[in-house]
Amino acid sequence: MPAHPARAVSSYPSHNLRAMTAETVAAQTLAAQAVTAQAVTAQAVTAQGAGSATDPAGQRQPGPARRPGPLERPAHPSLSPSRAADFKTCPLLYRFRTIDRLPETPTADQARGTLVHAVLERLFDLPPTERTPAAAGDLVAPQWEQLLADEPELATIFADDAATTDFLTAARKLLDGYFAVEDPRRLEPAERESLVSAVVDDQLLIRGYIDRLDVSPGGDLRVVDYKTGGAPREAFEGRALFQLKFYALVLWRTRGVVPRALRLIYLKDAEICDYAPDPDELVRFERTLLALWRAIEQATERRDFRPKPSRLCDWCSHQALCPSFGGTPPPFPELPVLAGPLAAQTPAVPGADE
Ligand code: SF4
Repeated sequence: MPAHPARAVSSYPSHNLRAMTAETVAAQTLAAQAVTAQAVTAQAVTAQGAGSATDPAGQRQPGPARRPGPLERPAHPSLSPSRAADFKTCPLLYRFRTIDRLPETPTADQARGTLVHAVLERLFDLPPTERTPAAAGDLVAPQWEQLLADEPELATIFADDAATTDFLTAARKLLDGYFAVEDPRRLEPAERESLVSAVVDDQLLIRGYIDRLDVSPGGDLRVVDYKTGGAPREAFEGRALFQLKFYALVLWRTRGVVPRALRLIYLKDAEICDYAPDPDELVRFERTLLALWRAIEQATERRDFRPKPSRLCDWCSHQALCPSFGGTPPPFPELPVLAGPLAAQTPAVPGADE
């Protein structure tokens, strides 16, 4: 069994393979339960008609969210921070990953991120006094073996044993960066690799995996995210904070508590970036997410996902198909049709499932 549920991450420097594997699995699971944009709109209209709050200007206020039950059939399109950030970064990248579902070759950076996250998760299985740098280092090789067993294609990343040895050494060095900024003997995480989700505004399921959630004796929440890439350059940090605000919004809507801190731990540079969100900011963020989802729906209806070149193109796996690099995207895929009473009305919206 995998050490943790598969989870998806996209392929930028601070990402890892968990995202891809996991989001693909989640996408395939939820694809069969896709909901049309029109169906969502109809639900939203129904909800408003039933008395949803509106502000004096008639604009709908973000409503309370609920946590879906484990066996509950998803009734809403869903969005993860990775895919939302993809669309913000480059709509065409979103299309390639979420609609075309183009495969992406795993890279050593992604594999290292996956490995280090797995080690840091397992580290907290040990009794507090045993959570030492040496113990973390001892977890590297067995966790790598576990990842290879779960995802055999990872073995193709490295040309020979020497390359694998260098890779494992680099992973241990990242763990040194962790111990330089935190002492895990003094921490007892409430949750690790935790899937959280909430329906916002009665229309969109937002969900994602939190690396670590700390809860103080007084009930304060701290969301922790490990970054295995390089220094927090502006573009990447913006993406990382977007991800953490996403989790903060889910926690607020499901637990009624705004996290006291959002913590990014940059392992390579042994740096911590703490951020304190506030409710007003999260309300704005929620509106931003809903607007983003509407933009995705619109792009899907128009089959219009444009490239948006940036420095992040250096990490894109799909340059050969991108018009900005002289490529041609594949034909837009035929969309699956929603099963059920609304099936005849409209095609399903890809990305509703991620
Ligand atoms: S190469 Fe750049 S512009 Fe093209 S799809 Fe990838 S991220 Fe978008």
